Amino acid sequence: MSSKTKITVAYGDGIGPEIMKATLDILEAAGAQLEYDVIEIGEQVYLKGISSGMEPKAFDSLRETKVFLKSPITTPQGGGFKSLNVTTRKSFGLFANVRPCKAYSPFVKTHFPKTDLVIIRENEEDLYAGIEHRQTEEVYQTLKLISQPGSEKIIRYAFEYAKKYNRKKVTCMTKDNIMKLADGLFHKTFDEIAKEYPEIEADHKIIDIGSALIAERPEIFDVIVTLNLYGDIISDIAAQVTGSVGLGGSANVGAEVAMFEAIHGSAPDIAGKDMANPSGLLNGAISMLVHIGQPEVAEKVANAWMKTLEDGIHTGDIYQEGVSKEKVGTKGFAQAVIERLGQSPSNMTPASFDKSDDSPISIKLRPVTKAKKELVGVDVFIDWDEAGRNPDVIGEGLRKADANGLKLHLITNRGVKVFPGGQPETFCTDHWRCRFKTADQKTITHEDVLELLRQIKELGFDFIKTEHLYTFDGERGYSLAQGE
Ligand code: NAD
Repeated sequence: MSSKTKITVAYGDGIGPEIMKATLDILEAAGAQLEYDVIEIGEQVYLKGISSGMEPKAFDSLRETKVFLKSPITTPQGGGFKSLNVTTRKSFGLFANVRPCKAYSPFVKTHFPKTDLVIIRENEEDLYAGIEHRQTEEVYQTLKLISQPGSEKIIRYAFEYAKKYNRKKVTCMTKDNIMKLADGLFHKTFDEIAKEYPEIEADHKIIDIGSALIAERPEIFDVIVTLNLYGDIISDIAAQVTGSVGLGGSANVGAEVAMFEAIHGSAPDIAGKDMANPSGLLNGAISMLVHIGQPEVAEKVANAWMKTLEDGIHTGDIYQEGVSKEKVGTKGFAQAVIERLGQSPSNMTPASFDKSDDSPISIKLRPVTKAKKELVGVDVFIDWDEAGRNPDVIGEGLRKADANGLKLHLITNRGVKVFPGGQPETFCTDHWRCRFKTADQKTITHEDVLELLRQIKELGFDFIKTEHLYTFDGERGYSLAQGE
């Protein structure tokens, strides 16, 4: 008998305690070797004035066990409360969000009975860095940050996941036809890493057509790896398409700690009524068992659960006249799964997890060779709302600035070139991106930039931010303006 693995357990709010009890009862009956460290999270903790929803001792528990099985929580109404999931993700570097989306037709209604895909979403970067500014009266910005190691980590994770779970294809989704640098980095890294996994098919889809295909032909996908925001959106599309939002589990995985949960919330409307379907959390727990090296138990639970669905023993949320045989509550459903431990589904493909490798996926990044970085210009952003916003006026004004040969090259407004030689029809806001370079593209210094800013201020313009234009080993590290 293997030794027990200690995990951190949070019963959460609303239906949380009921579905957690049902889940743990099933795991115990299946022979999972677990010990629990139970922590309190959620509404009561928020209401004590702890804005993260987690007490310091909860962090200590996670640091010790490194595995978190979490029920949904209720976020109290009103401001000032931080998302507990975001806090956990960021504090413990849970870089991968893994969400399997599977159809269980005909037992759960779906138009796409062959769907069986897994979305692996980058969890730490992208527009979720939370760096936002209001820059002018009219214009607000959110920074989208994509890093090379962040991209490599999630892409490697996706291929390792495909290998471990015997999946055949990994599809990368980006919008690199528009965001050539940030999304381009993700796509390029994907192409490089894919070469290390010749046994796994690799392809790329632009996120818009990719999302449309998930909604129309989800069965063509296997593993999908993508950036944070796209992943957020397509995870919900895919879950909806399978018809099993209430059945989905998800994992948030980092180098050390991993958190497993249901994708639904705390369902306060049915809390305490023995009506909730525990399947979402149970599916999260099945992934957890594989993660901690108990794949046999995971398989046993998954197969008994599918057999229960096939036998038509359903909770109210998935009950269908003509398909379902018996409507049960949370406890009755858990009991039905327990009774079927050791059995396998006859219509659905039985679960099969790799038992030869019981270690969690670990990621090693490639060594980085540093590029030669040279400063070749600067974009100065200016808040300007004068002269009817005539680009020629701001353009001629800024042409007077000359810092050691660093001179105005062009001006764009919301990315469209308006000076020199803009179109009179272009709508202009009060936010102007003014690009300064030297005529011969020579490198410049920080002193040149400071001198330029001093001159711009003297000329009476309100600069609100600068972005330096760098080359890396001679390769342009900034996008060209439309029309440049
Ligand atoms: P919800 O997912 O809790 O409920 C939406 C609907 O689905 C409700 O009608 C509910 O009864 C039903 N439902 C959800 N889970 C079910 C289950 N297991 N069995 C049967 N029916 C189920 O979403 P909501 O109502 O928007 O949010 C309620 C609370 O949950 C909010 O406080 C929200 O902040 C929180 N929430 C928490 C998490 C989390 O902890 N990970 C995620 C989402 C929402």
